[in-house]
Amino acid sequence: MPTQTTTSAVAATAAPPAPTRLRNFIAGEPVDGVRGFDKTNPVDGSLIAVVHEAGVDEVDRAVAAARAALEGPWGRMTVLERTRLLRRVADVIDRRADELVAAEVGDTGKPETLARDLDVARASANFRAAADTVASAGLDSFLTEMPDGRRALNYAVRKPLGVVAVIVPWNLPLLLLTWKLAPALAAGNTVVVKPSEETPSSATLLAEILMEAGVPAGVVNVVHGFGSRSAGELLTTHPGIDGVTFTGESSTGSAIMRAVAPRVRPVSFELGGKNAAVVFADADLDAAIAGLARSSYLNTGQVCLCTERIYVERAIFDDVAAGLAEQAGRLRLGRPEDPATTTGPLISQAHRDKVLGYFALAREEGATVLAGGGVPTLGDGLDGGSWIEPTLWTGLDNTHRTMREEVFGPVTSLVPFDTEEQAIALANDTDYGLAAVTWTSDLTRGHRVAQRMRVGMSWVNTWYLRDLRSPFGGVGLSGVGREGGRHSLEFYTEPTNVCVQL
Ligand code: NAD
Repeated sequence: MPTQTTTSAVAATAAPPAPTRLRNFIAGEPVDGVRGFDKTNPVDGSLIAVVHEAGVDEVDRAVAAARAALEGPWGRMTVLERTRLLRRVADVIDRRADELVAAEVGDTGKPETLARDLDVARASANFRAAADTVASAGLDSFLTEMPDGRRALNYAVRKPLGVVAVIVPWNLPLLLLTWKLAPALAAGNTVVVKPSEETPSSATLLAEILMEAGVPAGVVNVVHGFGSRSAGELLTTHPGIDGVTFTGESSTGSAIMRAVAPRVRPVSFELGGKNAAVVFADADLDAAIAGLARSSYLNTGQVCLCTERIYVERAIFDDVAAGLAEQAGRLRLGRPEDPATTTGPLISQAHRDKVLGYFALAREEGATVLAGGGVPTLGDGLDGGSWIEPTLWTGLDNTHRTMREEVFGPVTSLVPFDTEEQAIALANDTDYGLAAVTWTSDLTRGHRVAQRMRVGMSWVNTWYLRDLRSPFGGVGLSGVGREGGRHSLEFYTEPTNVCVQL
């Protein structure tokens, strides 16, 4: 692979930039890979980057660099020094927000406004939240009194896990990466990051930003590549890894669990979902329909928390169907830099093929298509992109595959219900268990239903409103463990109990 000196991500979205070469980032240096792979822009299919895929040697070097950094000055840094550093990282992210927005938009095609307000804003917030958490973390301590009169002071000290593998997907690349990276660093770990092959740019740029903020070389290393038989698998099977934190598909989580099993390493998994919303007849209908449109179509439906099943009390079924179909039809697909654009393309042609496969299956299963259902013709040079129409189905039930498997696109299904018990049973009838939303004006019912949802996150009359200190994660196929606030700290540290006889 030819060498080059810059690791900067895609520079601009307005005029198509020349393809960038994105290298691995190891011990503070850009490092060539074993081969290059193409990264195309999902807006129009143009080539935007050639990415250096890490092989055995590069992954080895990255893990070794992380281990050396752990044993160097980073490992001796006080919590106060670390929190100051993390806040500095947040400040540099804010200052270099335009570059990060460009990187994120180039890789994903999402609207610039979304990248700025959601992805990049949350990146700096993640670093500040992690700094706050670790700065205020307490320790368990117990004064022990034994029946024979002996007394002892027990207290726990928290130590970092060590070298943590951080493996993340493409849908909210920087947001999800920093959600894991910031607490891992706050807890004193060093990391090797494997961003998605679909979104290598913002991780590469973030590595530069961390260095600029003063994070020592080797503390954060980035290896590029694919999952199976590539950098992802090389990392999770590497004997030098002390734990894996992963966000992605449930089947990948299962593969990673098998990969780390021989060495019994801890894992934290945030996986897929087939999330339900329940709409009662007493709900504020306008707010519910607007909320459902957002929870179904934000980021072109490519958010793990997106709603793919909506159960509606029969009395208002037709009103919700008409209202949501109208909202879906009003979404504006277009260029990311156009402020009027609400909805970008899917991440890739391969992902669009998968989603279109579900569109065909839904028809076979008897769906009525109330909105969308196909590929739009947009003109303006966009038809080489992986665009798809925001779609709404009725006529399916929980026996259909389209109601049981995660589609991960801008599509949702409406199903009527008659009683509260039935609504809860329908919502919980899934192998997943990530998130649920209850729409009702009866707050007692809201609490009652929300608590019975078999999920990690249960919203009432809102969606994706997050307090970064609250637990985030899923049950069933949707994950293992919780992150957020002290929950993150619990995963990223190993407590040692000290018992002193008094
Ligand atoms: P994916 O599982 O295909 O890939 C995620 C990451 O894992 C990528 O970096 C990929 O290269 C890597 N990978 C793939 N196979 C691997 C292997 N065998 N060993 C090691 N690494 C491997 O997921 P995706 O398609 O990138 O993302 C979409 C999925 O992520 C959806 O299922 C979505 O629900 C889920 N997701 C979950 C959350 C959450 O918080 N629960 C958040 C966002 C996305």
